[in-house]
Amino acid sequence: MAKNHGWRDDPRELLRAGEDFDLEGMDRGAKPGWKAGKKAAGRFCHERGDLLSELQERLFAEGRAGGKRSLLVVVQGLDTAGKGGVARHVMSKVDPQGVALRSFGAPTDEEKKHHFLWRIKKALPGPGLIGVFDRSHYEDVLVARVDELVPRKTWEQRYDEINAFEADLVASGTTVLKLGLMVSHDEQGLRLMKRLDRPDKHWKYSKNDVPTRAQWDDYQAAYGDVFRRTSTEEAPWYVVPADHKWYARLAITEILTQTLIDMDPEWPQVRWDPEVQRRKLAATMSTAALRASLKETERQVKKAVKADREVQEEAARAREEVAGSDPIAAAEAEAREAEAVASAATAMLDLKRTRRQKAELLEERS
Ligand code: AMP
Ligand code: MG
Repeated sequence: MAKNHGWRDDPRELLRAGEDFDLEGMDRGAKPGWKAGKKAAGRFCHERGDLLSELQERLFAEGRAGGKRSLLVVVQGLDTAGKGGVARHVMSKVDPQGVALRSFGAPTDEEKKHHFLWRIKKALPGPGLIGVFDRSHYEDVLVARVDELVPRKTWEQRYDEINAFEADLVASGTTVLKLGLMVSHDEQGLRLMKRLDRPDKHWKYSKNDVPTRAQWDDYQAAYGDVFRRTSTEEAPWYVVPADHKWYARLAITEILTQTLIDMDPEWPQVRWDPEVQRRKLAATMSTAALRASLKETERQVKKAVKADREVQEEAARAREEVAGSDPIAAAEAEAREAEAVASAATAMLDLKRTRRQKAELLEERS
Protein backbone atom coordinates (compact mmCIF):
# COMPACT_ATOMS: atom_id res chain seq x y z
CA MET A 1 0.00 0.00 0.00
CA ALA A 2 1.15 3.49 -0.81
CA LYS A 3 1.87 5.09 2.52
CA ASN A 4 3.25 8.57 2.33
CA HIS A 5 4.69 8.85 5.83
CA GLY A 6 7.66 11.17 5.83
CA TRP A 7 6.34 13.35 3.03
CA ARG A 8 4.59 16.45 4.23
CA ASP A 9 3.70 17.39 0.66
CA ASP A 10 3.88 15.81 -2.78
CA PRO A 11 7.42 16.49 -4.05
CA ARG A 12 6.02 16.86 -7.55
CA GLU A 13 4.20 19.98 -6.48
CA LEU A 14 7.15 21.36 -4.53
CA LEU A 15 9.84 20.75 -7.14
CA ARG A 16 8.00 21.43 -10.37
CA ALA A 17 9.47 24.37 -12.30
CA GLY A 18 7.29 27.04 -13.85
CA GLU A 19 7.75 30.06 -16.10
CA ASP A 20 9.12 32.19 -13.28
CA PHE A 21 11.37 29.55 -11.75
CA ASP A 22 14.24 31.08 -9.77
CA LEU A 23 17.30 28.82 -10.01
CA GLU A 24 19.66 31.37 -8.51
CA GLY A 25 17.65 31.60 -5.30
CA MET A 26 17.32 27.83 -4.93
CA ASP A 27 18.87 26.27 -1.82
CA ARG A 28 20.71 23.18 -3.11
CA GLY A 29 20.98 21.74 0.40
CA ALA A 30 17.23 21.90 1.06
CA LYS A 31 14.95 18.90 1.56
CA PRO A 32 11.57 20.19 0.44
CA GLY A 33 8.59 18.27 1.76
CA TRP A 34 10.48 15.63 3.75
CA LYS A 35 9.89 15.87 7.46
CA ALA A 36 11.85 12.80 8.61
CA GLY A 37 15.61 12.16 8.38
CA LYS A 38 18.07 10.27 6.23
CA LYS A 39 17.46 6.84 7.78
CA ALA A 40 13.73 7.08 7.28
CA ALA A 41 14.39 8.14 3.69
CA GLY A 42 16.37 4.95 3.11
CA ARG A 43 13.55 2.86 4.53
CA PHE A 44 10.99 4.71 2.44
CA CYS A 45 12.94 4.16 -0.78
CA HIS A 46 13.32 0.52 0.04
CA GLU A 47 9.57 0.14 0.61
CA ARG A 48 8.83 1.95 -2.62
CA GLY A 49 10.93 -0.60 -4.47
CA ASP A 50 8.20 -3.26 -4.53
CA LEU A 51 5.57 -0.89 -5.81
CA LEU A 52 7.89 0.56 -8.44
CA SER A 53 8.81 -2.88 -9.60
CA GLU A 54 5.17 -3.95 -9.91
CA LEU A 55 4.21 -0.80 -11.80
CA GLN A 56 7.11 -1.27 -14.18
CA GLU A 57 6.15 -4.89 -14.77
CA ARG A 58 2.58 -3.84 -15.53
CA LEU A 59 3.79 -1.28 -18.04
CA PHE A 60 6.00 -3.93 -19.63
CA ALA A 61 3.14 -6.44 -19.78
CA GLU A 62 0.92 -3.79 -21.32
CA GLY A 63 3.55 -3.24 -24.01
CA ARG A 64 3.77 -6.96 -24.72
CA ALA A 65 0.00 -7.09 -25.13
CA GLY A 66 0.04 -4.38 -27.80
CA GLY A 67 -0.04 -1.28 -25.59
CA LYS A 68 1.81 1.72 -26.97
CA ARG A 69 2.76 3.55 -23.79
CA SER A 70 6.24 4.12 -22.45
CA LEU A 71 8.04 6.38 -19.98
CA LEU A 72 11.04 8.56 -20.71
CA VAL A 73 13.06 9.84 -17.76
CA VAL A 74 15.44 12.64 -18.73
CA VAL A 75 18.19 13.29 -16.20
CA GLN A 76 20.23 16.49 -16.43
CA GLY A 77 22.73 18.16 -14.14
CA LEU A 78 26.29 19.40 -14.05
CA ASP A 79 29.25 17.12 -13.38
CA THR A 80 29.00 15.37 -9.99
CA ALA A 81 25.30 16.21 -9.61
CA GLY A 82 24.54 12.50 -9.33
CA LYS A 83 23.02 11.68 -12.72
CA GLY A 84 24.67 8.29 -12.90
CA GLY A 85 23.69 7.47 -9.35
CA VAL A 86 20.06 8.23 -10.07
CA ALA A 87 20.08 6.11 -13.17
CA ARG A 88 21.64 3.18 -11.30
CA HIS A 89 19.31 3.64 -8.35
CA VAL A 90 16.18 3.66 -10.49
CA MET A 91 17.39 0.73 -12.56
CA SER A 92 18.21 -1.33 -9.50
CA LYS A 93 14.54 -1.34 -8.47
CA VAL A 94 13.13 -2.75 -11.66
CA ASP A 95 13.54 -5.67 -14.04
CA PRO A 96 16.54 -4.96 -16.28
CA GLN A 97 14.69 -6.07 -19.41
CA GLY A 98 12.16 -3.29 -18.88
CA VAL A 99 14.56 -0.33 -18.72
CA ALA A 100 16.97 1.10 -21.22
CA LEU A 101 19.70 3.51 -20.16
CA ARG A 102 21.26 5.86 -22.69
CA SER A 103 24.11 8.29 -22.00
CA PHE A 104 24.72 11.15 -24.39
CA GLY A 105 28.23 12.51 -24.81
CA ALA A 106 29.61 14.92 -27.37
CA PRO A 107 28.05 14.05 -30.75
CA THR A 108 30.01 11.76 -33.07
CA ASP A 109 30.94 12.87 -36.60
CA GLU A 110 27.96 10.96 -37.91
CA GLU A 111 25.59 12.56 -35.37
CA LYS A 112 26.94 16.01 -36.18
CA LYS A 113 25.68 15.61 -39.75
CA HIS A 114 22.09 15.38 -38.53
CA HIS A 115 19.57 17.53 -36.70
CA PHE A 116 20.23 17.58 -32.95
CA LEU A 117 17.13 15.50 -32.24
CA TRP A 118 18.17 12.74 -34.64
CA ARG A 119 20.17 10.71 -32.13
CA ILE A 120 17.53 11.32 -29.48
CA LYS A 121 14.70 9.96 -31.63
CA LYS A 122 16.71 6.82 -32.28
CA ALA A 123 17.10 6.22 -28.56
CA LEU A 124 13.48 6.61 -27.44
CA PRO A 125 11.99 3.79 -25.35
CA GLY A 126 9.78 1.32 -27.21
CA PRO A 127 6.31 0.26 -26.02
CA GLY A 128 6.20 -0.84 -22.39
CA LEU A 129 9.72 0.35 -21.64
CA ILE A 130 11.21 2.91 -19.29
CA GLY A 131 13.98 4.86 -20.98
CA VAL A 132 16.50 6.73 -18.85
CA PHE A 133 18.57 9.46 -20.52
CA ASP A 134 21.79 10.45 -18.74
CA ARG A 135 22.14 13.84 -20.49
CA SER A 136 19.92 14.44 -23.47
CA HIS A 137 18.80 16.91 -26.14
CA TYR A 138 19.05 19.55 -23.42
CA GLU A 139 22.82 19.56 -23.88
CA ASP A 140 22.05 21.29 -27.17
CA VAL A 141 20.81 24.34 -25.26
CA LEU A 142 23.35 23.96 -22.43
CA VAL A 143 26.89 23.12 -23.51
CA ALA A 144 26.06 24.22 -27.07
CA ARG A 145 25.06 27.64 -25.73
CA VAL A 146 27.78 28.08 -23.12
CA ASP A 147 30.60 26.95 -25.43
CA GLU A 148 29.08 28.76 -28.39
CA LEU A 149 29.07 25.60 -30.49
CA VAL A 150 26.28 27.10 -32.57
CA PRO A 151 25.19 30.72 -33.14
CA ARG A 152 22.74 32.23 -30.68
CA LYS A 153 20.00 32.26 -33.29
CA THR A 154 20.28 28.48 -33.56
CA TRP A 155 20.08 27.57 -29.90
CA GLU A 156 17.43 30.22 -29.29
CA GLN A 157 15.00 28.42 -31.58
CA ARG A 158 15.73 25.02 -30.03
CA TYR A 159 13.57 25.68 -26.95
CA ASP A 160 10.45 25.77 -29.14
CA GLU A 161 11.66 22.79 -31.15
CA ILE A 162 12.18 20.81 -27.97
CA ASN A 163 8.77 21.74 -26.61
CA ALA A 164 7.09 20.71 -29.87
CA PHE A 165 9.09 17.47 -30.01
CA GLU A 166 8.17 16.52 -26.45
CA ALA A 167 4.50 17.43 -26.96
CA ASP A 168 4.42 15.03 -29.94
CA LEU A 169 6.08 12.35 -27.88
CA VAL A 170 3.53 12.71 -25.13
CA ALA A 171 0.68 12.68 -27.66
CA SER A 172 1.97 9.40 -29.05
CA GLY A 173 1.93 7.71 -25.65
CA THR A 174 5.31 8.43 -24.04
CA THR A 175 5.14 10.05 -20.64
CA VAL A 176 8.05 12.46 -20.30
CA LEU A 177 9.57 13.03 -16.87
CA LYS A 178 12.44 15.51 -16.62
CA LEU A 179 14.69 15.66 -13.59
CA GLY A 180 17.22 18.43 -13.02
CA LEU A 181 19.76 17.67 -10.29
CA MET A 182 21.21 20.86 -8.88
CA VAL A 183 24.25 20.95 -6.62
CA SER A 184 25.88 24.02 -5.12
CA HIS A 185 29.24 25.33 -6.30
CA ASP A 186 30.86 24.28 -3.03
CA GLU A 187 29.42 20.79 -3.13
CA GLN A 188 30.61 20.29 -6.70
CA GLY A 189 34.11 21.35 -5.61
CA LEU A 190 34.07 18.82 -2.78
CA ARG A 191 32.84 16.02 -5.01
CA LEU A 192 35.43 16.72 -7.71
CA MET A 193 38.16 16.83 -5.06
CA LYS A 194 37.02 13.45 -3.78
CA ARG A 195 37.38 12.05 -7.28
CA LEU A 196 40.97 13.28 -7.30
CA ASP A 197 41.70 11.93 -3.85
CA ARG A 198 40.52 8.41 -4.52
CA PRO A 199 42.30 6.29 -7.13
CA ASP A 200 39.14 4.23 -7.56
CA LYS A 201 37.32 7.44 -8.60
CA HIS A 202 39.96 8.79 -10.97
CA TRP A 203 38.13 7.31 -13.94
CA LYS A 204 35.22 9.64 -13.22
CA TYR A 205 37.40 12.73 -13.38
CA SER A 206 38.06 14.62 -16.55
CA LYS A 207 40.62 17.35 -17.16
CA ASN A 208 37.70 19.30 -18.61
CA ASP A 209 35.88 19.33 -15.28
CA VAL A 210 37.73 22.37 -13.90
CA PRO A 211 37.41 24.47 -17.08
CA THR A 212 33.69 23.59 -17.17
CA ARG A 213 33.36 24.50 -13.50
CA ALA A 214 34.89 27.89 -14.33
CA GLN A 215 31.83 28.50 -16.53
CA TRP A 216 29.54 27.98 -13.55
CA ASP A 217 27.58 31.22 -13.92
CA ASP A 218 26.99 30.67 -17.62
CA TYR A 219 25.73 27.17 -16.94
CA GLN A 220 23.43 28.39 -14.18
CA ALA A 221 21.98 30.97 -16.56
CA ALA A 222 21.53 28.32 -19.26
CA TYR A 223 19.90 25.87 -16.84
CA GLY A 224 17.61 28.61 -15.54
CA ASP A 225 16.37 29.22 -19.08
CA VAL A 226 15.88 25.52 -19.70
CA PHE A 227 13.69 25.18 -16.62
CA ARG A 228 11.70 28.34 -17.33
CA ARG A 229 11.22 27.77 -21.04
CA THR A 230 10.77 24.03 -21.38
CA SER A 231 8.80 23.08 -18.27
CA THR A 232 5.51 22.51 -20.03
CA GLU A 233 2.14 21.16 -18.99
CA GLU A 234 2.85 17.98 -21.01
CA ALA A 235 6.48 17.54 -20.00
CA PRO A 236 7.33 19.34 -16.76
CA TRP A 237 10.73 19.75 -15.15
CA TYR A 238 11.29 18.74 -11.55
CA VAL A 239 14.30 20.54 -10.16
CA VAL A 240 15.82 18.61 -7.27
CA PRO A 241 18.24 20.06 -4.70
CA ALA A 242 21.06 17.54 -4.83
CA ASP A 243 23.64 18.49 -2.20
CA HIS A 244 22.15 15.71 -0.07
CA LYS A 245 22.37 12.65 -2.27
CA TRP A 246 19.89 10.80 -0.10
CA TYR A 247 17.28 13.52 -0.55
CA ALA A 248 17.75 13.59 -4.33
CA ARG A 249 17.26 9.82 -4.53
CA LEU A 250 14.29 9.93 -2.24
CA ALA A 251 12.58 12.72 -4.18
CA ILE A 252 13.26 11.04 -7.50
CA THR A 253 12.01 7.69 -6.27
CA GLU A 254 8.77 9.32 -5.18
CA ILE A 255 8.32 11.41 -8.32
CA LEU A 256 8.89 8.33 -10.44
CA THR A 257 6.51 6.23 -8.38
CA GLN A 258 3.77 8.86 -8.49
CA THR A 259 4.24 9.26 -12.24
CA LEU A 260 3.78 5.53 -12.76
CA ILE A 261 0.80 5.48 -10.40
CA ASP A 262 -0.79 8.19 -12.52
CA MET A 263 -0.06 6.24 -15.71
CA ASP A 264 -1.94 3.40 -14.03
CA PRO A 265 -0.63 0.54 -16.19
CA GLU A 266 -2.99 -2.44 -16.12
CA TRP A 267 -2.30 -6.16 -16.30
CA PRO A 268 -3.46 -7.16 -19.78
CA GLN A 269 -6.71 -9.09 -20.05
CA VAL A 270 -6.17 -12.64 -21.26
CA ARG A 271 -8.51 -14.34 -23.73
CA TRP A 272 -8.72 -17.64 -21.91
CA ASP A 273 -10.40 -18.79 -18.72
CA PRO A 274 -7.95 -19.65 -15.91
CA GLU A 275 -10.39 -22.12 -14.37
CA VAL A 276 -10.64 -24.11 -17.61
CA GLN A 277 -6.86 -24.03 -18.04
CA ARG A 278 -6.32 -24.99 -14.41
CA ARG A 279 -8.48 -28.09 -14.86
CA LYS A 280 -6.55 -29.06 -18.00
CA LEU A 281 -3.17 -28.57 -16.34
CA ALA A 282 -4.23 -30.41 -13.19
CA ALA A 283 -5.14 -33.44 -15.33
CA THR A 284 -1.45 -33.71 -16.24
CA MET A 285 -0.22 -33.51 -12.63
CA SER A 286 0.30 -36.18 -9.99
CA THR A 287 -1.94 -36.12 -6.94
CA ALA A 288 1.06 -35.23 -4.76
CA ALA A 289 1.93 -32.27 -6.95
CA LEU A 290 -1.68 -31.11 -7.02
CA ARG A 291 -1.81 -31.37 -3.24
CA ALA A 292 1.39 -29.27 -2.99
CA SER A 293 -0.20 -26.73 -5.29
CA LEU A 294 -3.27 -26.52 -3.05
CA LYS A 295 -0.99 -25.99 -0.03
CA GLU A 296 0.72 -23.13 -1.84
CA THR A 297 -2.64 -21.51 -2.54
CA GLU A 298 -3.62 -21.91 1.09
CA ARG A 299 -0.50 -20.01 2.10
CA GLN A 300 -1.37 -17.27 -0.38
CA VAL A 301 -4.92 -17.04 0.93
CA LYS A 302 -3.56 -16.51 4.43
CA LYS A 303 -1.30 -13.74 3.19
CA ALA A 304 -4.13 -12.12 1.24
CA VAL A 305 -6.44 -12.19 4.26
CA LYS A 306 -3.74 -10.45 6.28
CA ALA A 307 -3.09 -7.90 3.54
CA ASP A 308 -6.82 -7.25 3.25
CA ARG A 309 -7.05 -6.56 6.98
CA GLU A 310 -4.06 -4.21 6.84
CA VAL A 311 -5.48 -2.26 3.93
CA GLN A 312 -8.76 -1.85 5.79
CA GLU A 313 -6.97 -0.62 8.89
CA GLU A 314 -4.86 1.78 6.83
CA ALA A 315 -8.03 3.10 5.19
CA ALA A 316 -9.65 3.67 8.57
CA ARG A 317 -6.55 5.53 9.77
CA ALA A 318 -6.46 7.63 6.61
CA ARG A 319 -10.14 8.51 7.02
CA GLU A 320 -9.47 9.72 10.54
CA GLU A 321 -6.46 11.72 9.41
CA VAL A 322 -8.31 13.62 6.70
CA ALA A 323 -11.56 14.04 8.63
CA GLY A 324 -12.25 17.74 9.02
CA SER A 325 -9.58 18.79 6.53
CA ASP A 326 -10.10 20.27 3.08
CA PRO A 327 -13.19 18.42 1.72
CA ILE A 328 -11.77 17.88 -1.76
CA ALA A 329 -8.50 16.41 -0.46
CA ALA A 330 -10.51 14.30 1.99
CA ALA A 331 -12.77 12.98 -0.78
CA GLU A 332 -9.75 12.19 -2.96
CA ALA A 333 -8.00 10.38 -0.13
CA GLU A 334 -11.17 8.43 0.62
CA ALA A 335 -11.59 7.43 -3.01
CA ARG A 336 -7.97 6.25 -3.15
CA GLU A 337 -8.35 4.19 -0.01
CA ALA A 338 -11.67 2.75 -1.17
CA GLU A 339 -10.00 1.60 -4.36
CA ALA A 340 -7.20 -0.05 -2.39
CA VAL A 341 -9.70 -1.80 -0.11
CA ALA A 342 -11.66 -3.04 -3.12
CA SER A 343 -8.60 -4.38 -4.91
CA ALA A 344 -7.31 -6.17 -1.81
CA ALA A 345 -10.75 -7.74 -1.35
CA THR A 346 -10.86 -8.84 -5.00
CA ALA A 347 -7.42 -10.42 -4.76
CA MET A 348 -8.49 -12.31 -1.65
CA LEU A 349 -11.73 -13.55 -3.25
CA ASP A 350 -9.88 -14.68 -6.40
CA LEU A 351 -7.48 -16.72 -4.32
CA LYS A 352 -10.30 -18.26 -2.31
CA ARG A 353 -11.99 -19.29 -5.55
CA THR A 354 -8.74 -20.86 -6.74
CA ARG A 355 -8.41 -22.74 -3.49
CA ARG A 356 -11.96 -24.08 -3.84
CA GLN A 357 -11.36 -25.29 -7.38
CA LYS A 358 -8.12 -27.05 -6.44
CA ALA A 359 -9.79 -28.74 -3.48
CA GLU A 360 -12.57 -29.93 -5.80
CA LEU A 361 -10.08 -31.22 -8.37
CA LEU A 362 -8.36 -33.22 -5.63
CA GLU A 363 -11.65 -34.55 -4.33
CA GLU A 364 -12.57 -35.79 -7.82
CA ARG A 365 -9.52 -38.07 -7.63
CA SER A 366 -10.43 -39.85 -4.44
P1 AMP B 1 30.00 12.86 -19.03
O1 AMP B 1 28.53 12.78 -18.94
O2 AMP B 1 30.63 13.47 -17.81
O3 AMP B 1 30.62 11.57 -19.42
O4 AMP B 1 30.39 13.87 -20.19
C1 AMP B 1 29.76 13.89 -21.41
C2 AMP B 1 30.19 15.14 -22.13
O5 AMP B 1 29.51 15.21 -23.37
C3 AMP B 1 29.85 16.40 -21.38
O6 AMP B 1 30.95 17.23 -21.34
C4 AMP B 1 28.75 17.02 -22.22
O7 AMP B 1 28.72 18.40 -22.16
C5 AMP B 1 29.08 16.51 -23.59
N1 AMP B 1 27.92 16.53 -24.46
C6 AMP B 1 26.75 15.86 -24.30
N2 AMP B 1 25.88 16.18 -25.27
C7 AMP B 1 26.48 17.11 -26.04
C8 AMP B 1 26.08 17.85 -27.18
N3 AMP B 1 24.86 17.69 -27.72
N4 AMP B 1 26.97 18.72 -27.70
C9 AMP B 1 28.19 18.86 -27.17
N5 AMP B 1 28.63 18.21 -26.10
C10 AMP B 1 27.80 17.33 -25.53
MG1 MG C 1 31.90 14.15 -16.41
